[in-house]
Amino acid sequence: MSDWSREDVSTLTGVGPKLREKLQRLGIQNKRQMLFHLPLRYEDRTRIIPLGSIQSGQRVLFEAEVLQAAVSFRRGGRSRRVLIVKLSDNTGFITLRFFHFSSAQQQRLEKGAWVRGFGEARLVMGGLEMIHPEYEVFDPQSPPALDEFLTPIYPTTEGLHQLSLRKIMRQLIEQLKAQGMAETMPRQWLEQHNFPSVSEALLALHNPHDQQDVQLIQRRKHPAQHRFIVEELTAHRISLLQRRQQIQQRKSPRVAAAEGLQHRLLAQLEFELTAAQQRVIAEVMQDYEKNMPMLRLLQGDVGSGKTIVAAMAVLPVIASGYQCALMAPTEILAEQHKRNFSNWLEPLNIQVLSLMGADKGKKRAHKEQMIASGQAQVVIGTHALFQASVEFAELGLIIIDEQHRFGVDQRLALQKKAGDGCMPHQLIMTATPIPRTLAMSMYADLDYSQIDELPPGRTPVKTSIIAESKRDELIESVRKACAEGQQLYWVCTLIEESELLQCEAAEATYQNLQQQLAGVSIGLVHGRMKSADKERTIQAFKAGKIQLLVATTVIEVGVDVPNASIMIIENPERLGLSQIHQLRGRVGRGNKESFCLLLVKNDLSKQVANRLEVIRNHQDGFVIAEKDLEIRGAGEVLGTRQTGEASFRIADIVEDKAWFSEARALAQMLMQEPSLAQSSLLQDLWIGSRQNYSEVG
Ligand code: ADP
Ligand code: MG
Repeated sequence: MSDWSREDVSTLTGVGPKLREKLQRLGIQNKRQMLFHLPLRYEDRTRIIPLGSIQSGQRVLFEAEVLQAAVSFRRGGRSRRVLIVKLSDNTGFITLRFFHFSSAQQQRLEKGAWVRGFGEARLVMGGLEMIHPEYEVFDPQSPPALDEFLTPIYPTTEGLHQLSLRKIMRQLIEQLKAQGMAETMPRQWLEQHNFPSVSEALLALHNPHDQQDVQLIQRRKHPAQHRFIVEELTAHRISLLQRRQQIQQRKSPRVAAAEGLQHRLLAQLEFELTAAQQRVIAEVMQDYEKNMPMLRLLQGDVGSGKTIVAAMAVLPVIASGYQCALMAPTEILAEQHKRNFSNWLEPLNIQVLSLMGADKGKKRAHKEQMIASGQAQVVIGTHALFQASVEFAELGLIIIDEQHRFGVDQRLALQKKAGDGCMPHQLIMTATPIPRTLAMSMYADLDYSQIDELPPGRTPVKTSIIAESKRDELIESVRKACAEGQQLYWVCTLIEESELLQCEAAEATYQNLQQQLAGVSIGLVHGRMKSADKERTIQAFKAGKIQLLVATTVIEVGVDVPNASIMIIENPERLGLSQIHQLRGRVGRGNKESFCLLLVKNDLSKQVANRLEVIRNHQDGFVIAEKDLEIRGAGEVLGTRQTGEASFRIADIVEDKAWFSEARALAQMLMQEPSLAQSSLLQDLWIGSRQNYSEVG
C-alpha cells in the first residue's frame, strides 16, 4: 500500500517550485513532515467580541459600523498620511489607523459601512485602537460565516505567508481526515495512557476546538502534545541506542593495561590525583577490558583536572601499539595540551606531535608522514586533525576536549580516520555541566563519567559587579595590582557571532590600557592573530613577562596560568552564565585569593542584573548551569543549537523532564520487538534528515 503521507509536498495544489523551496527551508519535503509542522499559537476568529469587553493587548475579531473616516497628516510631509476610521457597535468604540492605504480602500470605509476586523487592540489615551487590522467590509444583512476552528499560526520563514501555509495545511488535513495515517506508536500504549491516535492528535493541534483546548496546549498539558513529546523523546533515544549498538558491534583496538607506565607518569606529577580522577581512570580501564569500542563522556567542571585523566587514558593504548588523537577547539588550547603531554609523556619515550591549521607546506607534509608511519604516537591538534590528507597508521583512541565546541559531524569525521573496520575508543570531555539525568537522555549513546570534586586547595573566586562609571578607579586598582606583582586578564566580549568585531574591540582596549597604564607590561591575544604570535604571548604571560593580558573569549577554554589571580570581564551580560563561569575558571587556580570583576553598563536591566547575581553568588558549575537552563533554555546552554545535535521539534529537555523515564521504557520495549518496523517509522518521522549523523565508519 502506498503511503500518501510520504508524497512530496509539490503534489499538493498550489505548491510550485518556489513555494517548495521555501518549505524546504523549514525542513519540510513531504506531506508527513508538513503535517508535523505544528502551530506556534492560535488566534480566535470563531467569535465576535463586543467592543465594550475588549481588553488592551487582546487579539480579537470585532464587528462595527463606521461612524467617521478621515485622512490626517502627520508631521513630516506629503507621504505621511494616516487614514483614521472611527467605528462603534452598540457596546463601545474603536479607532483604526492605516499608514498605507489605497483610495479604493478609503472609499469603501465610508460612514455607515460595516466592518469585520481582526487585530491586536490597544488602549491609547482611554480609547481602543488597532493599527492595520485585517478587515473586510460586509453587508450586515448577510454577514460572512465565522471560522469553525481557531486559526493556527505556524512558524514560518521569509516570504512565506501564514495564509499560504494555512491553505496547504487545509488540503492536508482533509486528506488526513479521509485517509488516516499509519500509527507510529503501539496501540496498547496509547490506550493505557488515554492518548489520541496519530491522526486525532494532529487534528487536535492544527484545529483545536475551543479555548479550553488552546489553554491546555499553551500549558503543554494537552494529551496530543504529551503523546508527541514522548514519541519524539523515544525516537531520539532509539536512534542514539542504535548508534551505540552499531558502534559496539564493530571491532575495537585491543588495549592491555599499562600500570607500569601509569605509575611512572604519576610519580612525575607534583600532585596526587583526586579520588574522582582515580575513579574515572578506573572506569576507562574497565572499558578497555570489554573488547568493544569505548564511548565515554567525561564531564568535569572547569579546573577539575580532566587533562591528566586523558593522559592516563592514553598510556595503555600507546603501550598496546596504537596511536592516540586529541582534538581541541582552539589552537591556544591545543598548544597547551601539546606542552603538557610532551612534558608528561616524552620522559616515557612517547612521541607527541601537534598538527594545526597553520602547519603548511613541507612542515605539514613531514608531520603527516610521521602520523601515517605511526612514528607520532600522540597527535594533538585542532580540527586540522580530520582533514582528508591526514591518515593515521593505526588510531586506537580519540579524545575530544571541550566537546560542546564541536559539531557532531566534526566528531564523526575524526571517527572515520580509523582504518579497516576497527572503531577507535573515544573519550569525550566537556566542562559544560550537564545535569546527570539530562546527560543520560541527550547522550544515551555514551557512557557517562564525572569528576565531581576539584583538586584540594583551590580558593573560591570572589566575584563582584562594577559599573562602567567606576572604570577609572578600576584601572587604578589594576595598576596597583600589577605593582604588587599580580597578573590579570582583561576580557573583551562582543556579539559572539562576530569574531572580527570582538578582535577590534580587544585591539582598542589594548591601546587604551597601554596609554592609561604606562609602565605596565600588557599583552594581547585574539582569534585573528597568527598562532605563533598567540602562542608567544601566552608563553610570556605564563612566564610572568606580561602582567596584564587583554584577550577575547578565545581564552575561555584551556588557558592555565596559575599565577593569574584577577579577571576583568567587560560586558559580561553578552555571555551565557556557563561561559562566564568557564572564563572565570582561568583564575583561582593557584593558592592566591582570586577575583573576577564584571564590568557592566551603568543602566543594567533588572533581568540582566539578576542573571549576573547568579554568577556572583555561586561557584558550582552545576548550579549555574541549572539556573542558566531555566533562563535561556537548553539549546543555548548545551551549545547544541549551533551544532544541530539533539535539537528537538516538540520536546523540550528541560520542560519535559517528567517524560524521560516513560520514553526510556518505551524505547527499550520497541527495540526488543523482533521487527523494528515501528521504530523505523518513528525514526523517519522524528529524526529524518538528521539520521545521517548516526552513520558510522
Ligand atoms: P580542566 O578539567 O578544566 O581541563 P585541567 O586539566 O586543565 O582542568 O587542570 C587544571 C589545573 O589543575 C592544572 O594546572 C592541573 O595541572 C591541575 N591539577 C589537575 N589535577 C590535580 C590534582 N589532583 N591536584 C592538584 N592539581 C591538579
Ligand atoms: Mg581542559
